[in-house]
Amino acid sequence: MRIDIVTIFPGFFDVLDVSLLGKARLQGLLQVRAHDLRDYTHDRHRTVDDTPYGGGAGMVMRPEPWGEALDDVLAEDGDPVVIFPSPAGERFSQPIAAELAQEGHLVFACGRYEGIDQRVVEHTAQRARVRELSLGDYVLNGGEVAALAMIEAIARLVPGVIGNPASLDEESHSELGLLEYPSYTKPAAWRGLEVPDVLLSGNHGAIARWRRAQQEERTRRVRPDLLQD
Ligand code: SAM
Repeated sequence: MRIDIVTIFPGFFDVLDVSLLGKARLQGLLQVRAHDLRDYTHDRHRTVDDTPYGGGAGMVMRPEPWGEALDDVLAEDGDPVVIFPSPAGERFSQPIAAELAQEGHLVFACGRYEGIDQRVVEHTAQRARVRELSLGDYVLNGGEVAALAMIEAIARLVPGVIGNPASLDEESHSELGLLEYPSYTKPAAWRGLEVPDVLLSGNHGAIARWRRAQQEERTRRVRPDLLQD
């Protein structure tokens, strides 16, 4: 999978060099490139923002550098999906991550200030598939953290990125629609707290039933909304 990111803070994405995604990059499973939006400006101050039409507080990202940056990124072969992280977008979720993990090329356009001139989204939609995606119901300072979270959620579903794909099956927000059961490792007793007996029993049927009951109880208690159709 190829991922291009357009941002005024390309250094934000240096963290993609570490851990499983760093390894996936070394293995050639992921190609990530962060592009500096300011490289597409033509004034001495490398300006990317201006005051909003209609008045109001804050600044809006100007369309011209975005147009040129996306011209560049979209000029290459392929049929990318362009993602605009936005608190006003559709809520990002595990099914969306799974859907995007099937794609060959994703482009993330990270806004700052009060966001990007809406014509950039409209214009991009005339030449590529576009998604405006929100990380959640809160407002971040910029699209970078949202893009990083989405990239990690998507890229770990790309075949080969996670060593043992079976570990994805029972996770929270997987197809089962339940939260994951609690996990324990050695030692069996720690600071006066014991691992549940059933997990030490070696009885696989009993363990599976206990885990399923834990999933249902936890989901009902913490996220009852997930149980509604
Ligand atoms: N004025 C915008 C609004 O009220 O909808 C918020 C702009 S926010 C300060 C600046 C940028 O951060 C946005 O353009 C977007 O790229 C990113 N951002 C902020 N919150 C986000 C969220 N919950 N999900 C995805 N991106 C977000």
